Amino acid sequence: MNKLDGKEVAQFLKENNIELIKKIKEKNEEITLAIILPTNDPSSLSYLKGRMKMAENVGINIKTITFDNTPTQEELLIEIDKLNKDSSITGIMVDRPFPKGIDEKIINNAIDHKKDVDGVNTLNAGLLAQGIPCMIPPTAYACIAILKYYKIDLTGKNVVVVGRSASVGRPLAQLLINENATVTVCHSKTKELDKITSNAEILCVAIGRKEMIDEKYLGNSQILVDVGIHYNELGKLCGDIKESCKENALFATPVPGGIGSITNYMLLENLLLAHKLQKEN
Ligand code: NDP
Repeated sequence: MNKLDGKEVAQFLKENNIELIKKIKEKNEEITLAIILPTNDPSSLSYLKGRMKMAENVGINIKTITFDNTPTQEELLIEIDKLNKDSSITGIMVDRPFPKGIDEKIINNAIDHKKDVDGVNTLNAGLLAQGIPCMIPPTAYACIAILKYYKIDLTGKNVVVVGRSASVGRPLAQLLINENATVTVCHSKTKELDKITSNAEILCVAIGRKEMIDEKYLGNSQILVDVGIHYNELGKLCGDIKESCKENALFATPVPGGIGSITNYMLLENLLLAHKLQKEN
């Protein structure tokens, strides 16, 4: 297997953006990401640690918004409104999981689209569908970034995306279409998934099913992009594609060290776009 190394891509993005951020700071401007943490879920805290590290590496600020008690929808909307109006805040994201009873769409769409660095609001999804530059959900963005970094031409390629979530599968399919790939999107109701996936030239999997994609679903000389992050029985990280099956691929993203290594740097790309859009205002 030729490894599509996410750590190498992250390093490249880091070095590129450090220079850009230095120039922004020379103009006495700052980049600040506001992260609203509606719960203290352990996964949310572990993602926060990763974002803090990225911020420290490149010289941007993170402001966290926490609550003494689980916030109501109204309380979250009040915080988002304050951050939308605060000119010192470049980007806003609300961490998952959401507390029970909160309408995710209402929260997502309350964020000013020029600060929506997680690419979750409807306006950004619409812009992406039309191929107009916008904030792109970082995980989907990371899949394209790694393929581009390794100069994998997507034009006319038969690409299969398994998963159609609003944060990964759907935006990834849009990005691939914008790159002139021929895209098939599969999901839990797809029939004969193995026949479709094994014929793909490039297979992107974002299903949230630990190592579900094994030999049965794979073909020859494929490029495999594995978005999944899970812990296996030994407590080791693994993906949606069985790691040992990646040996036969032409190229594959490992887990760990693949897509997950890049997502925070794609969040940074969105922050830099947000900064630019706000300055143009
Ligand atoms: P969701 O649960 O929101 O979506 C899963 C998608 O997979 C759905 O569209 C679902 O279909 C489809 N699916 C589920 N089971 C099957 C199946 N057996 N066959 C075919 N399709 C199936 O997950 P996310 O998109 O949020 O995340 C996907 C994976 O990516 C997870 O493992 C998650 O941990 C990981 N992830 C990784 C990140 C990173 O930084 N690397 C960041 C975010 C997520 P249907 O629509 O029909 O229900």
